[in-house]
Amino acid sequence: MSATEQLQKRFDAVLMPNYGTPPVALVRGEGCRVVDADGRSYLDLIAGIAVSSLGHGHPALVKAVSEQTARLAHTSNLFLHEREVELAEKLVEKIGAPARVFLANSGTEANEAALKLVRRAAGPERTYYVSTVAGFHGRTSGSLAITGKPAIRDPFGPFGMDVRFVPHGDAAALREAVTDQCVAVFVEPVQGEAGVVPAAEGYLAAVREICDATGAAFVLDEIQSGIGRTGRWFAHQAEGVLPDVLTLAKGLGGGLPIGACVGLGRYGTVFAKGDHGSTFGGNPVAAAAALAVIDTIEREGLLDSVTELGELLAAEIAAIDHPLLAGVRGVGLWRGIQLTAPVSGHVQARAADAGFLVNAVTPDVVRIAPPLVITREEILEFTGALPDVLAAAARDAEEDARR
Ligand SMILES: *Cc1c(COP(=O)(O)O)cnc(C)c1O
Repeated sequence: MSATEQLQKRFDAVLMPNYGTPPVALVRGEGCRVVDADGRSYLDLIAGIAVSSLGHGHPALVKAVSEQTARLAHTSNLFLHEREVELAEKLVEKIGAPARVFLANSGTEANEAALKLVRRAAGPERTYYVSTVAGFHGRTSGSLAITGKPAIRDPFGPFGMDVRFVPHGDAAALREAVTDQCVAVFVEPVQGEAGVVPAAEGYLAAVREICDATGAAFVLDEIQSGIGRTGRWFAHQAEGVLPDVLTLAKGLGGGLPIGACVGLGRYGTVFAKGDHGSTFGGNPVAAAAALAVIDTIEREGLLDSVTELGELLAAEIAAIDHPLLAGVRGVGLWRGIQLTAPVSGHVQARAADAGFLVNAVTPDVVRIAPPLVITREEILEFTGALPDVLAAAARDAEEDARR
């Protein structure tokens, strides 16, 4: 048995089966490369689901986390510390408008904070929420209730919340659904878990306008899109539209668990003392990591390179002529390779065989979300290998069909 198989056997014996058995066991990483339990090396093009924004072992992240751990790892919220203040200051500065921050430990917790916040702001008169079909907001009960994926949502209802789902990007459907009885509208600028699906241009402006007209809160989930992934600090900056509440996580901590719920304008002061809390939220080590991420994105000029390399990645994929390839969509270093058949699992497996980690996000889309520090050479290494990966996946699919 290989070292990976041995670990998988132990994993299966003691971890719940909710993830299935992951095919690769990772041991260490450096830059955009990771190494598995059997010594195989991979180019990491998924970055732990758009999280490891600085890649692996980045000196700035290592320094920030180790120094902060040595100095003071935890305070709880009975005591304040400078890192959480600095981080909130940085986030407000990047948003460029008056705002206040609540720090949590994950994306779903950021959305839970947002759910409580908008309910508190609306009071009990408003009765329902609007969210989007195929949208994803997390796995805890509140964030799952506003998640538009029946396969993961339905087994866990009822949720005790009236949530109405409208197609993502459809301003007319949203206008129809949102009245002065609506608490809040939850949307993603680009639906990551649906297969990196951007909304049509002008959609966020329409959401803003509909929320202004009805008094519903506009909650923008930038948990996957935020902190440089699209070539801007936040995806909404491409449209010049501000939400009422912004949620962040994933890339913010560069691999350390952290989330943030940001209330803009009057939504910054909805929570009164005692209304919400988290023992770990705003933890000094996670906050130090987030500060290192933001500082490194600035110092290394990563927003520009994300835009440039994202366009290179998309152009190189689009130039490939293969019957399995339907197209490529997305923005920045966040792309969905669209397939003509539901064989993304084969593509993911064949890519791993060839030394590339990608993600079969839906049956016919392969998601690419590499570290923001990826180089031109590394991108070309992947796109150069992609035709052979697709050919191998096509052979696997043919074999499936024969069985
Ligand atoms: C990943 C994700 C979440 C949930 O974040 P967790 O940290 O896994 O709880 C919520 N919304 C979006 C858009 C996400 O991509």
